[in-house]
Amino acid sequence: MAIRPFLRNQETPFWNRYYETMPREQLDALHLHRLRLVLRHAYDNSAFYRRKLDRAGVHSDDIRTLDDFKRRVPLLDKDEFILLQEERPPYGDTLAVPPDYVAHHCETSGTTGISLRIPYTGYDTERYGEAWCYAFWWLGVRPRDTFYFAFSWGLFAGFWSAYWGVRRLGATLYSGGGQNSEGHIRMIQKLRPTVLVSTPTYALHLAEVARKTGVDPASLSVKFTFHAGEPGPCAIPAMRRQIEEAWGARAGEMLGLAEVHALAPSCPTQQGVHVDETGCFSWSRDPATGEEAPEGGVGENIITTYVNNAQPLINYQTHDLVARYNQCECGRTWAFFKGVVLGRTDFMTTIRGTNVYQAAVENILGQIEGVSHHYQLVLTRVSGLDRMCVRAEPVPGWPAERFLELARIIEERIHQALQVRLEVELAAPGTLPRYELKTRRIIDQRPKEVRRILDRV
Ligand SMILES: [Zn+2]
Repeated sequence: MAIRPFLRNQETPFWNRYYETMPREQLDALHLHRLRLVLRHAYDNSAFYRRKLDRAGVHSDDIRTLDDFKRRVPLLDKDEFILLQEERPPYGDTLAVPPDYVAHHCETSGTTGISLRIPYTGYDTERYGEAWCYAFWWLGVRPRDTFYFAFSWGLFAGFWSAYWGVRRLGATLYSGGGQNSEGHIRMIQKLRPTVLVSTPTYALHLAEVARKTGVDPASLSVKFTFHAGEPGPCAIPAMRRQIEEAWGARAGEMLGLAEVHALAPSCPTQQGVHVDETGCFSWSRDPATGEEAPEGGVGENIITTYVNNAQPLINYQTHDLVARYNQCECGRTWAFFKGVVLGRTDFMTTIRGTNVYQAAVENILGQIEGVSHHYQLVLTRVSGLDRMCVRAEPVPGWPAERFLELARIIEERIHQALQVRLEVELAAPGTLPRYELKTRRIIDQRPKEVRRILDRV
């Protein structure tokens, strides 16, 4: 049975004002307490952590400050877990609860192409879902709203956790399942949901399909759209405008990592996301020096989750580059990532001396008239140097004789903004692949030894 928050003031902008506005010293004291508990739980119950922490010579009692934790507890990478799980499926010795406590199982792709398996206890799923309540509430969604999920269920954790969140919020949910886009539009017309949940690119695709069938998506009942799985409306302002205009709705996003948590719901200002500091501990590490990055400096987001008791992740390298701030104009004290994720530490391609972030290219494309939101970045390596080609698609109906002109405009705008010239290729409208779940934007054709399969961007 869903828990209906009968007594919650529907007008307050906070889901939990006490935690969301807790002063930093108090939050930090709470983190220290929780981190020590997580360390003890992992050490006592997971053979993997006992080995790892013994080898590093560090135990929960040695951690007296947050600095102790950041410096002394060894970092953890996804591949360590994947290796152990492959040796002894399904979870190797990473599990920290008896196997029959596992209530749900998801998977996420790894850099080696082998999936990481993620177990959750029933309690983990409750906590994971709570993060979505913050997200929905901050955007303006209330228990009286009705959700439409436009995807088929699978091993992808993002939308399962959204489902746990909707139950916790106490709202109504319609699951559209694996039907085609026309079917989803018909369901939305019939059921009149107020919240659409999908990947951001699929929301745009759905709007395209609706228009093709003579339906203006903005005239439908949807007041809010919510997104996960790819960089979304708070990471890419051009995408936010496209989604909000298409649906006549307000768009939010969740920065989540399947194995960690739905870790950062979008701020009401839509300029970034706030770390859910009740569900995890996060700090930012300068990848060059290994030291903590200063406020506003770009660093790798390192996470310890309080939400996954089944397979704890402690000082876990997310490879996401973020700019972290300790305050935000919305009044929340939780760490704020301006622009969400700015890049990946394992996406270290440099084009003639310039780091090119995917979000930057996407923002430029979103501002050029005649360019659709479908694009790919194709990486190749020629004579030891990385090269990147932007493969874009004009909007339907764009005249073929103006393709060349459009390609030149794209090349010029990228050069102006990023100081680097990238090759630009135009694909015929409707020919680049469409995805219901994670969209693959980066096509890496470099030799195996330099290639990284990117699983978030
Ligand atoms: Zn904020």
